[in-house]
Amino acid sequence: MASDFNPTVSLIIPLFNEEEMIPLLISSIEAFRSERKENIEVIFVDDGSSDKTFDLVRAQTQGLAGYQLIQFSRNFGHQMAISAGVQSCKSDAAIVMDADLQDPLDVAGRMIETWKQGYDVVYGVRNSRAKVPASQRLTAHWYYRLFTRLSDVDAPLDAGDFRLISRNVIEAFNQFTEQQPYVRGLISWLGFKQIGIEYDRPGRVLGKTKYPFAKRFQFAMAGLTSFSSRPLKLAVNLGLLIAFGSLAGLIWVLVTKYLLGTAITGWASLIFAAFFFGGIQLLFLGIVGTYVARVYDEVKGRPRFVIREMWNSSGKPAVLGSNHGNRVFEQAKPTSE
Ligand code: UDP
Ligand code: MG
Repeated sequence: MASDFNPTVSLIIPLFNEEEMIPLLISSIEAFRSERKENIEVIFVDDGSSDKTFDLVRAQTQGLAGYQLIQFSRNFGHQMAISAGVQSCKSDAAIVMDADLQDPLDVAGRMIETWKQGYDVVYGVRNSRAKVPASQRLTAHWYYRLFTRLSDVDAPLDAGDFRLISRNVIEAFNQFTEQQPYVRGLISWLGFKQIGIEYDRPGRVLGKTKYPFAKRFQFAMAGLTSFSSRPLKLAVNLGLLIAFGSLAGLIWVLVTKYLLGTAITGWASLIFAAFFFGGIQLLFLGIVGTYVARVYDEVKGRPRFVIREMWNSSGKPAVLGSNHGNRVFEQAKPTSE
């Protein structure tokens, strides 16, 4: 990279009911910006917060340069908020990070340095000193390993969405139109020159997690189903195994009855065998159904998110999207509030 070129880097930060975090977050970003020589801009995506997040961001960044705020019409989810932020990013690189400062700004600085050495994706790898609740850490640990075994992409272990992506990757990423984007998997899938940097992940600074168990589980399922069809193949293999097994069982029954002449007892075991196979059938019907539901979601082709309002701290006219979803930012037309 030429030394006289001063790049612009956007921080993309999804916000969902983060009112406690806003003052500290903005002051930390301001401190970070004053330390960096690059132009640092910020894209906040308010993912349908029901608290004062939107108003607070506006009040606290008014008059400061380089803050953009996109407000969703309702909660569309963290992954969609990231996608919207990336779509609106015009900078040379973007860094996706959480609002709760669990993705430290000094690590973002290291990511920028690594990017300048010629990498397209610099992702944060959480090392073992991470200060996250033990239960969450364990499930995440095993989930990442299960994902790697099942999926067809080489997603790095112990890496969340905290990462820097170059302009090339931003452009490529914006071509995805998935209804349930699994951002970290999609970015791995894209290829380019990727590298991980290790960091200690601190605990959430203020407020509570916005990822309760049900949401976390749904997210994990979305990740697996979008990157692996192996659960379906498992159904085929298990089905074959059981079919051959029962054929062998049948032969054994005939042999004991006609050749050995021993009576067959125990219909109780029969009924449990029936339940067992009923259960297996339901399980795989469910797995097939999960994939069918995803296909149905894609086929409907609904807008992926809907924007209620867009706001800019430097007082530029607000922009309202006319056609929301995939290509909203190209089609947005300016209005004068
Ligand atoms: N978030 C979001 N939409 C949601 C849930 C979370 O935009 O539906 C944001 C949240 O504001 C934060 C980031 O996603 O910036 C990560 O959430 P959180 O820190 O609560 O997750 P955890 O670190 O506990 O996994
Ligand atoms: Mg967090």
